[in-house]
Amino acid sequence: MCRHLAYLGPAVPLGEILVRPEHSLYRQSWAPRRQRHGTVNADGFGVGWYAPEDPVPARYRRAGPVWGDGSFADLTRVVRSGALLAAVRSATVADPDGEAAAAPFAMGTYLFSHNGAVLGWPRSVAPLAGRLPPADLLDLAARCDSALVWALVQRGLRDGYPAPEALSGAVADVAAAAPGSRLNLLLTDGASISATAWGDTLWYRLDPAAGTVVASEPYDDDPLWTEVPDHTLLTATRTDVLLTPLKEPAP
Ligand code: GLN
Repeated sequence: MCRHLAYLGPAVPLGEILVRPEHSLYRQSWAPRRQRHGTVNADGFGVGWYAPEDPVPARYRRAGPVWGDGSFADLTRVVRSGALLAAVRSATVADPDGEAAAAPFAMGTYLFSHNGAVLGWPRSVAPLAGRLPPADLLDLAARCDSALVWALVQRGLRDGYPAPEALSGAVADVAAAAPGSRLNLLLTDGASISATAWGDTLWYRLDPAAGTVVASEPYDDDPLWTEVPDHTLLTATRTDVLLTPLKEPAP
């Protein structure tokens, strides 16, 4: 399964968050410390970030392992931002979509990532997909479980639900249709972060001076890192983190 991370705080070179820390997301692509499923995250990677005075983030994604992309390390040395979302991918099922299947997925001002797997994909969630307007399915970002989960979240956002409700609604629907699925979702609009812990690890680090990081696992051994209990919805800004228990799936 993937590792993912979102950051809100003072503008810094992306590499200060993604590459420089001892156990950074970059290193987690081959040596994650707390990954429960899968070993390496070599099936693509991506980062999305916000630039001043433009609410729509830019993305840089590639189909291969992050360690094979010299341009990534070089770009992240000089590109600066105060809001980003990044992921390294371990594909649940081999698919032909490469870069398109690498998070972050994007819609308007939003960036999204899914760490986990939909059990029984694709048949288990066919009834859920059938409830989406056909145009949403034609717009699917890629042919993988995470893209369908993203389509469900986008539908919630377009229907007017606030980001945390759009995430928790998608988790409830997919967990009911495909019990045992792992649904750690991460969503940001550059001003706040929403995330779910549902079957895999999730941590956050809140530091008034250095901002907020929400990540699959800590990128260093700073005692400020706090683990999020399973089945929890997290909402965060630069200065606050709020945890709310999610309803347990029906037995
Ligand atoms: N199900 C996701 C995919 O196939 C996997 C994301 C992850 O946790 N590896 O892309």
